[in-house]
Amino acid sequence: MSTMKNIAILCSGGDVSGMNAALKRFVEYSKRKGMIPYFVKEGYEGLIDDRITEAHYADVAGIISRGGTIIGTSRSKRFMEAHYRAEAIGNLRKYNIGYLVVLGGDGSFRGMQKLSDECDDINFCGIPSTIDNDIAGTEYSLGVDTALNVIKFSIDSIRDTASSFGRAFVIETMGRECGYLALVSALTSGAEMCLIPEIPYDLKAYESLFKKQQKEGRHYFISIVSESLHKTKEITEWYKETLGVEARFMVLGHIQRGGNPTVHDRLMAFHFVTHGIDAMLAGEKSSVICYNDGGFDRKEIADVSFKKATIPDDLMQLGMEYGHLE
Ligand code: ADP
Repeated sequence: MSTMKNIAILCSGGDVSGMNAALKRFVEYSKRKGMIPYFVKEGYEGLIDDRITEAHYADVAGIISRGGTIIGTSRSKRFMEAHYRAEAIGNLRKYNIGYLVVLGGDGSFRGMQKLSDECDDINFCGIPSTIDNDIAGTEYSLGVDTALNVIKFSIDSIRDTASSFGRAFVIETMGRECGYLALVSALTSGAEMCLIPEIPYDLKAYESLFKKQQKEGRHYFISIVSESLHKTKEITEWYKETLGVEARFMVLGHIQRGGNPTVHDRLMAFHFVTHGIDAMLAGEKSSVICYNDGGFDRKEIADVSFKKATIPDDLMQLGMEYGHLE
């Protein structure tokens, strides 16, 4: 159980929209609880190198509407080595920091767990933050809603030109090994094809379906393909060769990470941070705040970082309707 007073926060791994809202809540709620808040710049790299500064209200004024993170993030190879983690712990102790909030994905939580195992006097808490929504144990991770809205805007725009020109567009979304972003984007944008790693697909079935639709007057198609399949160019060629339509592909790439955070992500940031700080103050040594069935709960890192995330059943059911005749 920590006896120290000061509290710090860092961002690790990929940045997401909503991190700044989380930083704002962190500063305000920490002060409300009588603690001195600190920022650790550029994730675990900054923790090793002592880029730790006290955070003030002025630092978080006007940041809520900005994507990314004002304190920077990083991936750190050095953090994998125990002697660098010992330096990181030494730096936290130097500032009398007894609580550390980590915004990141499952890799960052694995690192956090190691740090927690290596010291008794600091409590840790992870806030799931990744646009991929690929963290097991939580239905929602910070940044997902903003990413989905950026993708929606892109697909809606592409549909305008696809329908005017009579073309097929193959749009590649991020998601690492998880098809969540692709599936939800395809469903909510009315895409004609959706290919994700979780659901087997049959191009022959798509061919019969699309040829039937072409006879009925359809002259353009939108396909959403998850990056992990590495099929984007192949599907583009398939459109040209099999259906005889002009086809283009578009890799949305890092545009999906940025942008003005949605209302949902701002609110979720506030709730995640509040629950995270409460968990540490209640004596939780090392936990991740998860969101399931409309509420927040605390989970062991082992239940979050060492399991594979799955797509909810209701979405899988909808996804399995793709590529089949009625
Ligand atoms: P994410 O948190 O988005 O999954 P990464 O997997 O890149 O991103 O992890 C972010 C950082 O967390 C890594 O660069 C590394 O510093 C740290 N990390 C990840 N796995 C471990 C581990 N097993 N031990 C120590 N640190 C780790």
